[in-house]
Amino acid sequence: MLKLAGPPAAEAVYEELRALLNRLPYTPHLRVVRLGEDPASVAYVRLKDRQARRLGLSSQVDVFPASTPQEDLLAHIARLNQDPEVDGILVQSPLPPQVDFNTVLEAIDPKKDVDGLTPLNAGRIWMGLEALESCTPAGVVRLLKHYGIPLAGKNAVIVGRSNLVGKPLAALLLRENATVTLAHSRTQNLAEVCRRAEVLVAAVGRPGLITPEMVRPGAVVVDVGINRVGQDERGRDILVGDVDPRVAEVASALSPVPGGVGPMTVAMLLYNTVKAALWRRGERAG
Ligand code: NAD
Repeated sequence: MLKLAGPPAAEAVYEELRALLNRLPYTPHLRVVRLGEDPASVAYVRLKDRQARRLGLSSQVDVFPASTPQEDLLAHIARLNQDPEVDGILVQSPLPPQVDFNTVLEAIDPKKDVDGLTPLNAGRIWMGLEALESCTPAGVVRLLKHYGIPLAGKNAVIVGRSNLVGKPLAALLLRENATVTLAHSRTQNLAEVCRRAEVLVAAVGRPGLITPEMVRPGAVVVDVGINRVGQDERGRDILVGDVDPRVAEVASALSPVPGGVGPMTVAMLLYNTVKAALWRRGERAG
């Protein structure tokens, strides 16, 4: 079985970006906004900031209290939209209850939307137009391409229909000429639907949801899920995906958790930051 490891595929993205950055007379600037101290968000934001700096981008994290009113966050986003120094804006989710994530997304300048989640970018992806693409779905496609997994004409089943992962991934796999099925919590006979998949992507957030019986022998399986199932003796979170580890005995390829899609998500965020910087200046990523 082929392990679809994220780090080598992410490194290939960084290689490309370093070559591009060497030629630029400016340093793209990423601004990440975080509200509150949700431990997972703190960890993700730190990782994104650290990776951005390691790549040679300029990066700043703006931290606000969890009690920040929505208007204050929107005012901050408006300032970042206007700021010519800022190339990419990312507001880390989940947000506290007084702030509506969709309202926040609609406030972000689509040209600086490095998470690829604003309605304009989401729509452009579906229309097959050039866009800042949602990072996790773009990372999944990039991971599959890195390992030479053919997609054209294949039956691809995505479990999970969120705006963050499932829906944009359906658009991207369609663009790769896969025949796409989007399954979700109301899907009947999920096992049967999954067994049709030559490429099966799990993006739900339920450990062990995908069992070997749901996987067609030889299928390629991508596990997007990240579930915290406890802590090890050093107090670090133990993370598992949505795919039962026994699926490795049936699948021809499987992405691990951690170390699969996660690193690709960060790599695609930084790819989008460079792309956004080029775009604003009327240049292309090539
Ligand atoms: P979400 O909660 O917004 O969406 C979950 C989806 O799963 C929904 O569409 C729902 O219909 C579907 N679902 C729920 N129960 C189901 C069931 N029993 N059978 C079939 N479908 C079911 O979650 P999300 O934001 O899309 O994230 C999904 C998972 O991916 C989470 O574990 C999240 O942590 C992870 N994630 C990972 C990365 C990464 O970089 N690796 C990035 C984003 C999200």
